[in-house]
Amino acid sequence: MLKTIGWTFAFRMSNLNTGIKRVCVYCASSNQVAKVYFDAAETLAIELVKHGVTVVYGGGAKGLMGKLATTVLEHGGHVVGIMPHFMREVEWAHKQVTEFHFVADMHERKKKFLENADALVALPGGVGTLEELLEALTLKKLGLFTRPIVIVNTNNYYDPLLLILERSVEEGFMGIRHRAMWSVVTDATDVMNAIANAPRWDEDAIRFAALT
Ligand code: AMP
Repeated sequence: MLKTIGWTFAFRMSNLNTGIKRVCVYCASSNQVAKVYFDAAETLAIELVKHGVTVVYGGGAKGLMGKLATTVLEHGGHVVGIMPHFMREVEWAHKQVTEFHFVADMHERKKKFLENADALVALPGGVGTLEELLEALTLKKLGLFTRPIVIVNTNNYYDPLLLILERSVEEGFMGIRHRAMWSVVTDATDVMNAIANAPRWDEDAIRFAALT
């Protein structure tokens, strides 16, 4: 009983502290990646459920996507899948996820991912994940998306991407201020902290989006 009260209190406090209710997670659809990546997806899912966060993702049943959704559900959390109709037709949709939004195409899906998202998290992934992450960063640079973006650098997977992002700042392809658009964690248990501590960003970013 005491434990339940303690847990409920901690849960409410953590929710109050961050104000984060809905997090969109980009991650791999591949089932053929090393266990370390599945473990990161599992850890992230548990962390988000612990903070009472609704998880929005691509709706897949395989790979890190499947692991994330299954773990959230196993821990009593809420998952929302967003998937284009054509993927449903080839039966890629996770069967246990009850809240699904089926959309016309990949473009609408990416737009929906961002709607009402309090933060974005990228676990390791392939081209789909990279594209989603880079589009979100582009929108943030233009002030069209303003929420925290956290990159989970499991197994140093994202090192080459982080290097090119840093280089683009160093060589003037992005401004110094743009460096604040993303945060990096190595352990998925640090994601909520990174979200809570992300520098404030707003629509005003359009003012310094262009480097002239
Ligand atoms: P990737 O990072 O290349 O594995 O791609 C992940 C993204 O690709 C997801 O966000 C989806 O847009 C899409 N995707 C690719 N394969 C699948 C799948 N089997 N089920 C659901 N979505 C998928």
